[in-house]
Amino acid sequence: MIIRAASVEDVVAAVRTARELDLEIGVRCGGHSSIGLAVPEDGLMIDLTPLTGVRVDPARRRAWIQGGALLGVLDRAAQRYGLATTAGNVSHTGVGGLTLGGGMGWLARQYGLACDNVVSYTMVTADGEVVRASRTERPDLFWGLRGGGGNFGIVTEFEFRLHPVGTRTLVAEYTFPLDKAIPALKAWRDLNAEAPREATFTAGIGRDNQATLGFVWVGDPQRASRLLHGFQALGRPAATHVAEMSYVDLQCREDTVERHSLRRYSKGHYLQQFPDAAIEAFVHRGASDDEFRPSVGLQAYGGAIADVPDEDAAFSHRATLFEFGTGTNRTDPADDEIRIAAARRSAAAMAPFAHGVYVNALSDEGAEGVHRAYSPDKLTRLVALKDTYDPHNVFHHNQNIQPSTR
Ligand SMILES: Cc1cc2nc3c(=O)[nH]c(=O)nc-3n(C[C@H](O)[C@H](O)[C@H](O)COP(=O)(O)OP(=O)(O)OC[C@H]3O[C@@H](n4cnc5c(N)ncnc54)[C@H](O)[C@@H]3O)c2cc1C
Repeated sequence: MIIRAASVEDVVAAVRTARELDLEIGVRCGGHSSIGLAVPEDGLMIDLTPLTGVRVDPARRRAWIQGGALLGVLDRAAQRYGLATTAGNVSHTGVGGLTLGGGMGWLARQYGLACDNVVSYTMVTADGEVVRASRTERPDLFWGLRGGGGNFGIVTEFEFRLHPVGTRTLVAEYTFPLDKAIPALKAWRDLNAEAPREATFTAGIGRDNQATLGFVWVGDPQRASRLLHGFQALGRPAATHVAEMSYVDLQCREDTVERHSLRRYSKGHYLQQFPDAAIEAFVHRGASDDEFRPSVGLQAYGGAIADVPDEDAAFSHRATLFEFGTGTNRTDPADDEIRIAAARRSAAAMAPFAHGVYVNALSDEGAEGVHRAYSPDKLTRLVALKDTYDPHNVFHHNQNIQPSTR
């Protein structure tokens, strides 16, 4: 059964109905959970997608957005005033799932993760009560909602801090054949150490075996010229792509390639360092030469993400240097086995260099994945919070924090 919730009252009624009928609950916002966490078997999906309202107060630099909205709604509303806050890289990802897990995007090195910019949450609890959480109201819940995922209730509204980012961005990409990738990646890593916060370094190797290294810049593109010059240290690329675009266009840039209806599998790691041995593992992707190799990618952390004191929020691993991801998007079910196996091999090859994982990058790892996503002390605190707000684990179709009472 699916309830399409169009108001906070609908969400309350849905939670109470599910509990009365003893139905498992799934919560749907953007629907980007590739293992289908929003879709319970034989249960009740609480579909928040009608809850897309957004209000921006440009003078106070605040946005209030409902819990079923997509990132593009927030970006477009804020950009009318040259404002924005950290959101992800694909505009059809849900504000709900992304922000509750942390929320990484092109503004995070300047302004912190999406969750670092939330001022308050309005949430429906497992008992169907409507509560607010902020630094002053239920600060324990506020701490847990900043990275703890959908474990404590259904968020019907997020209040975000906005920033005067303007509307201009620049993307720089330099493509190298695989045999030139290792020295280029070493130079790229060294440049990243000095990169201004407007720049988020990216690197990827696709199924075409080409390495594309570069950065995304949010702010006046003129200010990126020094960094562009610095990229000469990578060597001579086979192709160069440097393009200015609006912030809204940047935020939609990957929408088609990451479209709905693809068969997806991905795995990730957080890396605190990227030594030469990790660069080699990244390029080889867990395969011997004649075997199938999946796509791999890196996105830089640091800057304002690491400025936030670690104890400030449930989100863990703020000392991350790069987030590694490997995966496969495909249409033919016949390819599932070989492609998933390849992604797993490439993730295994990077595992010795990993120190954790982003909770929103987890797929089918289960409890082991959740233990990698949070530091042990934070997990203890999250369990205590779960005991308070959802002791019967009503909200368990997520990267689950199990209450201790079960
Ligand atoms: C193509 C693609 C691109 C991505 N890019 C990024 C990125 O740039 N940065 C990044 O940080 N992450 C990114 N992610 C990961 C993404 O943040 C997670 O998959 C996230 O869970 C998706 O949220 P959703 O609302 O779209 O998904 P859904 O499948 O709708 O929800 C997933 C889970 O989130 C919880 N949830 C969602 N909304 C609410 C709510 N309002 N209240 C309570 N619980 C809720 C529920 O537990 C739900 O089961 C990407 C994922 C994909 C598939």
